[in-house]
Amino acid sequence: MSGCTITIYGGVNEVGGNKILLYDNGTKILLDFGKGFSRRARFFEEYLKPRSANGIVDFIETGLIPDVEGIYREDLLEMAGMKASAPAVDAVLVSHAHADHVDYISFLHRDIPLYMGSTCHTILQAIQDRAPRDFEREVLDFLPKPSKRGVKPVARKINEFRSGRKFKIGSLEIHPIHVDHSIPGAYGFIIYTSAGPVVYTGDVRLHGARPEMTQEFVSEARAAKPIVLICEGTRITDISLEESEQRVFREANGLVTKHPDSPVFADFNFKDTDRVKTFYRIAKENGRKLVVKLKDCYYLKYLSQDPNLGIPSYDDKDIVIYKPKQVSGTYADGDYYGEDATFASLPNAKTAAEISQNPSRYVCALGYFSFASLIDIRPPSGTLYIHSASEPYNEEMVLNQERVDNWLDKFGMERHQIHCSGHAKGPDLFQIVKEIDAKMLFPIHTEHPELYVRATRNMTVVEEGKTYALQRVNAEPI
Ligand SMILES: [Zn+2]
Repeated sequence: MSGCTITIYGGVNEVGGNKILLYDNGTKILLDFGKGFSRRARFFEEYLKPRSANGIVDFIETGLIPDVEGIYREDLLEMAGMKASAPAVDAVLVSHAHADHVDYISFLHRDIPLYMGSTCHTILQAIQDRAPRDFEREVLDFLPKPSKRGVKPVARKINEFRSGRKFKIGSLEIHPIHVDHSIPGAYGFIIYTSAGPVVYTGDVRLHGARPEMTQEFVSEARAAKPIVLICEGTRITDISLEESEQRVFREANGLVTKHPDSPVFADFNFKDTDRVKTFYRIAKENGRKLVVKLKDCYYLKYLSQDPNLGIPSYDDKDIVIYKPKQVSGTYADGDYYGEDATFASLPNAKTAAEISQNPSRYVCALGYFSFASLIDIRPPSGTLYIHSASEPYNEEMVLNQERVDNWLDKFGMERHQIHCSGHAKGPDLFQIVKEIDAKMLFPIHTEHPELYVRATRNMTVVEEGKTYALQRVNAEPI
């Protein structure tokens, strides 16, 4: 088949789960292949999971992944009683390492190479090392099913790219350009097709610590005169006026400075290295140490090696590693496995008992998932809890919020919300769309794609799974 088409299989009318198939004269690539969290929550939860014994059947049946031939792992297809075939896709371009963009790469055919930035690769490595293997998160390598003893993981082929350096996949030329987002190693793409350039933003913002990166992407995209812009729209309804990482620092630092005798708990996403640096700096400037989880040492280990990121190492003098209680109830280092044991045996590792001797000397980066540790640390009444992540925006998050409140009430902790989002707000998204000025806009990663009509008339509210043919001037469904 000749010509150029785009089919969007995930990220349509939902935040995350991006899966975009771009076809051009025999070359096929996927842009991201993420996990759609809200979609998954429609059918599954913690104790009701898609079954791995069924291969990918449960995922296809519930619409978590598309029923497309020639893209999935042979072992999973065989288990599902489906026909395995040689891969029909030439590559996956990964925009960044967030789960809603990468996790379902886990199910893709072993011979489909992945293309990603080197920092993105590093983060995926840290994610893989820090937690036990999970069937829904086997991005860099996977264990063939059904699991057998002694079988080694199958490593995927990874190609790293750098911002501004073009490369080719089949008939396509790819121009990756860094963007600013709440995780380092994030990229947008300009893809030169036979119908004209196609631009994909991935996830972006203009109010973060490095707006010049996003601005560079937008300028390059504009200069390319694209035929299609696939643009995220997570916060299209949000017009909050002032937000910046600097403001997060200022407000959180002000609080900590005003409460020198209070312990501080900071709840944020550790993959957001800007936020890690913000709370590290707050701890330092207030003569405190930043307490990090044992598992987060994997991020510090890998990311501190990149001098551009300015991330402290896990053995930094201002970092304390929190040593949680193990199953046997002792703190003997033998209770920890693998690299956890190495981190736990470092001189800067401390137990809850040691921290609670003088808790106001610390800023504890111990959030929601570590709340049970509050029982061991016993923070005094009035302890500051800084929630530095998005406010709840769905039912599940509201339930979590109630649970958070119960823990805070139990210990008499004081809640503060201080955050700056990884996603551009409405006015910034409109500015990006207007500036890039593509012939066609395909909104993605948003529950309100229709609102983009305020920024451009050349907008298509994309239907999931529908194939759009790109001609030099417009796009029509076929
Ligand atoms: Zn993201």
